[in-house]
Amino acid sequence: MKIPRVRMPERDAEARARNFEEVNLGLAAPDAVTEATRCIACAKPGCQIDCPVGVKVKEIVALICAGDFLAAAAKMREDNALPAITGRVCPQESQCEGGCVLGKKGLPVAIGNLERFIADFERQSGRLGLPAIAPSTGKSVAIVGSGPAGLSAAMDLIQRGHRVRVFEALHELGGVLVYGIPEFRLPKSIVKEEVDNLRRMGVEFETNVVVGKSVTLDELLRVEAYDAIFVATGAGLPVFLGIPGEHLNGVYSANEFLTRTNLMRAYKADEYDQPIYDCRNRDVIVVGGGNTAMDAVRTARRLGARTATLVYRRSEAEMPARTEEVKHAREEGVQFRMLTDPVELLGDKDGWLTGARCVRMELGEPDASGRRRPMPIRGSEHILPVNVVIIGVGTHANPLIQSSTPDLKTTPHNYIVADSATMRTSKRGVFAGGDIVTGGATVILAMGAGRKAAASIHEYLSSGVWEKVPETGT
Ligand SMILES: Cc1cc2nc3c(=O)[nH]c(=O)nc-3n(C[C@H](O)[C@H](O)[C@H](O)COP(=O)(O)OP(=O)(O)OC[C@H]3O[C@@H](n4cnc5c(N)ncnc54)[C@H](O)[C@@H]3O)c2cc1C
Ligand code: SF4
Repeated sequence: MKIPRVRMPERDAEARARNFEEVNLGLAAPDAVTEATRCIACAKPGCQIDCPVGVKVKEIVALICAGDFLAAAAKMREDNALPAITGRVCPQESQCEGGCVLGKKGLPVAIGNLERFIADFERQSGRLGLPAIAPSTGKSVAIVGSGPAGLSAAMDLIQRGHRVRVFEALHELGGVLVYGIPEFRLPKSIVKEEVDNLRRMGVEFETNVVVGKSVTLDELLRVEAYDAIFVATGAGLPVFLGIPGEHLNGVYSANEFLTRTNLMRAYKADEYDQPIYDCRNRDVIVVGGGNTAMDAVRTARRLGARTATLVYRRSEAEMPARTEEVKHAREEGVQFRMLTDPVELLGDKDGWLTGARCVRMELGEPDASGRRRPMPIRGSEHILPVNVVIIGVGTHANPLIQSSTPDLKTTPHNYIVADSATMRTSKRGVFAGGDIVTGGATVILAMGAGRKAAASIHEYLSSGVWEKVPETGT
């Protein structure tokens, strides 16, 4: 416990605020070993208990201590199929590191940094052993959506000998990992490599297929003769504020803004026509306090915004964004305007945004979320001059499949009802998991759902038995 936590090296804040290169630079091998030696190998490891997919952290850290990085990576892959991704984006502070006993008196073992290290080491060594594939079962599974839930399910199902085809509405594979999370947090090459591994294992991918429009679930089952379907379509439907002026030019949802930057390559402005309102020397505000809002405001800063300001109606203590993101954003020059709520967006005669009328807020009693309720302060109205407003206050279920599949049971908010143990839906042969069932959550939870669904689909394909989903679902 006397050894201080090893710091992750980072790119210089001023330089990185002008480009999209990855901020965190990764640990060198000797530093990873030093960090691993901080672990005191608890009899009841809280790190493992608090990991949503039960990664065997203690054993992995011991293998790093022994310098056997490839064995550590292999052990990690037993429970987590995408460690290079989760090592970069998991909210470790509230999961494994939150459960680490060292955190009670000091800083927890840097489990996320170690996870990233072994995954990168394995990849760079070129000795990534692809798992064995069972002989063909003659069964085929369609997966709808190529986010972490769909990719994890594909990985497990192909290993069990089933034919797997992933249908993706967008032209690139990876879901939020590519269209939402920016390059400076998760380089696209890392996601691409994981997708390529799946291809090598035999998974088929078809992009630009909007299931529910181009083809329905019933057609996949009856006409294309898939034996089972896993719906992993996520929760990408943006929520707006419902205030006057949201139709103005210069107003984006965070999802549209990030998708245009990531998939239409606004982040490579020298090579691609800017598929987005030019932020250079303009004032940008992003409304919200979660990871999505933080990604949007840091992206706006990198696209050259004169001011990039996060506007949030509660205080910083209530912000759901990861602590590291807040720290990085502040270092990069993002401004924080807490306890502020836009009530109207203002425009000129040509329909272009010119300002945001805002009110100051104060915190009252805790609401249903357990956080103190923000309440407007009378007489505090003021106008912020602004050219771009990005709204990142949450998302809802992607709706197309539900609307084209009448016998698929949904919740009042249009999420798909699936049994939390088996991921079975109300429709025979159809399973669902990830954000489309839980609402917006995390990468690791979506991956866990994908793996659970794969095990359940395998059982169904092997036994042919379909049990009715309990009325309540998840
Ligand atoms: C900007 C942003 C930042 C985030 N940052 C983090 C983070 O740092 N850490 C973390 O743990 N979590 C983060 N999250 C949350 C996390 O990314 C999600 O919980 C996770 O990606 C959900 O995985 P999924 O597979 O269920 O869905 P998604 O990743 O949303 O993938 C669903 C896929 O289905 C496709 N699809 C939708 N409808 C159809 C259709 N009808 N036909 C075919 N394909 C369809 C979509 O195009 C998409 O590719 C972030 C989310 C966002 C938006
Ligand atoms: S809780 Fe912390 S110290 Fe204990 S085994 Fe896990 S990583 Fe090591």
